[in-house]
Amino acid sequence: MSAGRFAPSPSGDLHLGNLRTAILAWLFARASNRRFLVRVEDLDRQRSRPEFERSQLDDLAALGLTWDPPVVRQSDRDDLYAAALARLTDAGLTFECFCTRREIADAVRAPHAPPGSYPGTCRDLTESERAARRAERPPAIRLRAEADEWTVRDELRGEITGHVDDLVLRRGDGAHAYNLAVVVDDGDQGVDQVVRGADLLDAAPAQAYLAHTLGLPAATYAHVPLALTADGRRLAKRDGAVTLRDLTPAQAWDLIGASLGVGARSPEALLSELDPWEISLDPWIVTP
Ligand SMILES: [Zn+2]
Repeated sequence: MSAGRFAPSPSGDLHLGNLRTAILAWLFARASNRRFLVRVEDLDRQRSRPEFERSQLDDLAALGLTWDPPVVRQSDRDDLYAAALARLTDAGLTFECFCTRREIADAVRAPHAPPGSYPGTCRDLTESERAARRAERPPAIRLRAEADEWTVRDELRGEITGHVDDLVLRRGDGAHAYNLAVVVDDGDQGVDQVVRGADLLDAAPAQAYLAHTLGLPAATYAHVPLALTADGRRLAKRDGAVTLRDLTPAQAWDLIGASLGVGARSPEALLSELDPWEISLDPWIVTP
């Protein structure tokens, strides 16, 4: 059965913007008769904390959101990512990359390549060149992308075509990369509707291309507006009373409901009051 999901990183408390995204992800899933899953994206072992995982799930429950078990944790799923990477490597669709961030930033690119995109430096190294460079540093593994562009369907924004980069799939330190994990997880969990913040819109075409390359079905997306401060910055915990540590669930619902132009103060009321496909695409300006 198809599913939507909310996939927070347990690196801090969820703020109002994250909570609004979670509520919208729930609403999109339930309004389209999908399961709703919660996935803990804790690949970044330095920043992830079990106490934040608990508080985030508690916060979602405090808002009245329900989800279909189990909650999966990316840190438990390394074998799945390794298997997907092995399939791509066996198909000749990966290469070792020895570049530093500095080298990538300073590289000369083709005229139309987006800033920061991978310049292709290590795509065609010979075996002896690779052997020499392995002695300097362990390589990252990148996708050998065979398309420059890919198109995704966003349920709020229509068709979005964007650049497909040679994504890092495994970092030099051996950790599987976010882009690989998120695509493998969505495919494995039957997620065919990805609702998340608009900051990830630019990542969608390359992720969808990677899913295609792995033989996974195409998901649709809904990139929902970000929460910004009055001076246009992304909302952050330091902006004051923006998490459920400082707000009651009822106060959070008041703010989020008002931002969506509805009187609903619970998930079920929202489901009967709001068509999620009609929400405004303007950023939500939060003044705590
Ligand atoms: Zn490289």
